[in-house]
Amino acid sequence: MSFTPKVGFVSLGCPKALTDSELILTQLSAEGYVTSKTFDGADLVIVNTCGFIDEAVKESLDTISEALAANGKVIVTGCLGAKSGDDGQNLVKGLHPSVLAVTGPHATQEVMDAVHRHLPKPHDPFLDLVPAAGIKLTPKHFAYLKISEGCNHRCSFCIIPSMRGDLKSRPIGDVLNEALALLESGVKELLIISQDTSAYGVDIRYQTGFFQGRPIKSRVYELVEALAELAEPFGAWIRLHYVYPYPAVDEIIPMMATGRVLPYLDVPFQHSHPDVLKRMKRPASGEKNIERIHAWRKVCPQLVVRSTFIAGFPGETQGEFQHLLDFLQEAQIDHAGCFAYSAVDGATANDLPGMLALELRQERQAEFMAVAQNISAKKITNLIGSTMQVLVDKSKSLGRAGGVGRSYRDAPEIDGVVHLLPPERVSKTYLTGEFIKVKILDSQGLDLIGVPI
Ligand code: SF4
Repeated sequence: MSFTPKVGFVSLGCPKALTDSELILTQLSAEGYVTSKTFDGADLVIVNTCGFIDEAVKESLDTISEALAANGKVIVTGCLGAKSGDDGQNLVKGLHPSVLAVTGPHATQEVMDAVHRHLPKPHDPFLDLVPAAGIKLTPKHFAYLKISEGCNHRCSFCIIPSMRGDLKSRPIGDVLNEALALLESGVKELLIISQDTSAYGVDIRYQTGFFQGRPIKSRVYELVEALAELAEPFGAWIRLHYVYPYPAVDEIIPMMATGRVLPYLDVPFQHSHPDVLKRMKRPASGEKNIERIHAWRKVCPQLVVRSTFIAGFPGETQGEFQHLLDFLQEAQIDHAGCFAYSAVDGATANDLPGMLALELRQERQAEFMAVAQNISAKKITNLIGSTMQVLVDKSKSLGRAGGVGRSYRDAPEIDGVVHLLPPERVSKTYLTGEFIKVKILDSQGLDLIGVPI
């Protein structure tokens, strides 16, 4: 009987880390390893870590300790793996010298090399058993599609570029081939991610790539256009995340107005006041964001804008904070999240003068969120009585007890949902990943309640 090596895999962190996990899992499966989400019976464990904020660092370090205690053979990858401790040495290696190998993010080959060293690959893998779309950690009906790695900006509160390096765009042919494989495997919603989606192709000077023999420029507009064309016959959704408000984005809005791409933009504004944005060293800080949002909404009135903000950045005056609240009101941001500023080890913002007291930072965050939630709640009240297309996320109980889905307004896990009441014809059943028409009856906090029609 042949031995089939088993690898336990724990994936922590953001969607970008998730796509790294998917690449490693896909490679492991392609080579014939068995993978599992637990340590039970595993011959080796891989932990994909997050190193962005203190809580994530703690969660990652705790997971590594648990894996070492439970299994003993542990490989660490991801953002935390690229971090140094106070002594300038690798943080993970310093704290856990017994880990077998440590790599930074986006290091599939290095991780596989370490796996091969410590758990030789099985003989004669059954390559055909791997689905063309690779191994996905998301449910079958939606998937994240990473178009680039790293970032050319140097925002003062962020250490991602030091962990993930400068922008590295994937070849457009590779991105489109992966999109097609995902769509053919039944994915109904592609979520486009990167650190800076608008900057796609900048590092390769927008060079022309090829997809199915056709030349396509590596630029965000051409990419989105090609994705929309691919998704159309499958009736699938394309949703854009981490889009900076550069002029290039204006060209995409008409595609949203006609429904070729979801009228949804995740734009991480972080602040509105020009002086704060300068201190943050934000990309597009000179852009007139409020005018831009108004112009987008003129072309595409149904556009939903999601954004994240930081309250209490070093030196933020009451006037600058008020500017942020006024911006929020005027921009009518549909889904806004806000963090109270907290220092991240290694970020240059730590050297800025004017650190505010924790209490004041938290007060401002709470004040911001109260305004934001009020705007969101009012906006969704206007949807009561309308009919929306909803993608079913949980269908098991969509017989007598109802279910859960999302409209174009909501990205998975970060926005709201549509609670689906039992359909009038209870004999009709729905499948996860199916699009249905829903009449919106009510709202509940940031969620909607509707009934399939
Ligand atoms: S744009 Fe700024 S916040 Fe985003 S990854 Fe780059 S440096 Fe970090």
